[in-house]
Amino acid sequence: MLGAMQDWDLLVTHLIDHAAREHGTREIVTYWADGQQTRTNWAGIRCDALKMTQALRAAGVGKEDRVATLAMNHSRHLVSWYGAVGVGGILHTINPRLFDDQLEYIVNHAEDKVLLYDAAFQPIIDKMKALWPSVELYICYDSGEHATSFEDWIAGYDGNAQWAEVGERDPCMLCYTSGTTGNPKGVLYEHRSTLLHAISGLQPHAFDFRPNSVMLPVVPMFHAASWGLPWAGAAAGLKFVYSAVNDPMVLCDLMADEGVTHSAGVPTVWLGIFQYCDATGTALPKLDVATIGGSAAPKFMIERLMKNGARVAHAWGMTETSPIGTVGAPTHDWADKSFDEQVAIVAMQGRPVFGVELRTVDLDDFTKELPRDGKTSGALQIRGPWVIKRYFKADQDATTADGWFDTGDVGVIHPDGTLQLTDRTKDVIKSGGEWISSVELENAAVGHPAVAEAAAIGMPHPKWDERPVLFVVKKDGADCSAAEVIEYLSDKVAKWWLPDAVEFVDDIPHTATGKISKKDLRDRFSDYKLAE
Ligand code: AMP
Repeated sequence: MLGAMQDWDLLVTHLIDHAAREHGTREIVTYWADGQQTRTNWAGIRCDALKMTQALRAAGVGKEDRVATLAMNHSRHLVSWYGAVGVGGILHTINPRLFDDQLEYIVNHAEDKVLLYDAAFQPIIDKMKALWPSVELYICYDSGEHATSFEDWIAGYDGNAQWAEVGERDPCMLCYTSGTTGNPKGVLYEHRSTLLHAISGLQPHAFDFRPNSVMLPVVPMFHAASWGLPWAGAAAGLKFVYSAVNDPMVLCDLMADEGVTHSAGVPTVWLGIFQYCDATGTALPKLDVATIGGSAAPKFMIERLMKNGARVAHAWGMTETSPIGTVGAPTHDWADKSFDEQVAIVAMQGRPVFGVELRTVDLDDFTKELPRDGKTSGALQIRGPWVIKRYFKADQDATTADGWFDTGDVGVIHPDGTLQLTDRTKDVIKSGGEWISSVELENAAVGHPAVAEAAAIGMPHPKWDERPVLFVVKKDGADCSAAEVIEYLSDKVAKWWLPDAVEFVDDIPHTATGKISKKDLRDRFSDYKLAE
């Protein structure tokens, strides 16, 4: 027997229909790269998205075609999210901070057909265009100088169109993560997973949205689906305030002028805001909820935001988990706790939102589940309807035999379900919210004639959360200086990947299977301090 309720596929186009119908006049404000400010609303976003579906169809773009964006946060980017999925297409947000070879790889791997971009990224387009044969149409969001401008492109249409007919398990969005070794990997979200994830963001302990909430997401739309905010924000009918520039002065002004109640960003963003406020004597913006994620939120940051009256929602997630996995929220006995106790709890990574499950397992034996005792640390694994099963175009699942995704993070789970991350097994370093591959740094370094072995690990850094430090064993009888190693690396990796320090050591610890043991190296240098 089947249940007897209505058929209503879980499609993300329902989100924009709802936002336009029920919250049509709620504003979407944008501060553009040229300093201009524009205002539209959810009804306007939907109308433009429908016009975009007409323009895409006229260009022969339809079901499962990849529509890429290379852009900062703004209202036209938001329109494109819904316009791309509205033709049954797959929205592919590209991180403009990736290197040329990564950009070349992902656009070709995704087989992007259309690319919409900000004029600020014209140099990337000029450099990469010849390497991207699949892209048939370039649209520039804010200038008509080198490609058709977005406004001109949709201007000839009236928005009198229908969303494409798709099913809830059809794909709607593609994000690549470089937070793993090897080439970036594509995570292909579907309508159902995205809608369920958006609804999870409405749980009070997630973003804590109210009918009058005003959200300024600093987290980019190209990063882990902007933590799902363009979808969840439509469900909640939020007023969105977008800034196409990440200048702390602009962000603080917008927060004050537009009555922003909620914001979300990686720790480096909040630090930039603190520094600007301290340097200029500007009052720290008053927020109801400050969401921090992408890297561990430091205690001093949590304290300062909490003292300023905000609830700090410290969140953990991954591109592979859509991304929300856990969020910290006040517990039932919050009022009985001292301020310091509250800060200590918020500094952990929070508890799972309803819809996903976490477990920790033995690092060497994934079948051995560990107790949730707040002490025994192990590999963090997750499962749920918005967690990856298989990377885009991969021929094998990314899950364990019993269906869990291993996150590459290491931590403990406390008896009340709070997650506390302690380490990472994946060989990457996260600096200012962006990934650096330690393996690539090491491989480049061992090309130096005096280097026998090299190991890169992330060391805590007050501004960038982590910065790479390279530990080097010299070849017998050979010599070189730290400056020479850095100079050697400088044309092999991006400038911001260059290690902050090179330390010469007699040996590098190895595991039983002969791999470099980053854990032992980190333990050995646990007191290491980077110069600021
Ligand atoms: P990404 O897919 O680029 O969003 O990166 C996901 C990874 O960032 C996670 O697997 C963690 O290693 C790290 N991460 C995200 N949020 C946090 C957090 N709150 N604390 C510590 N690490 C985090």
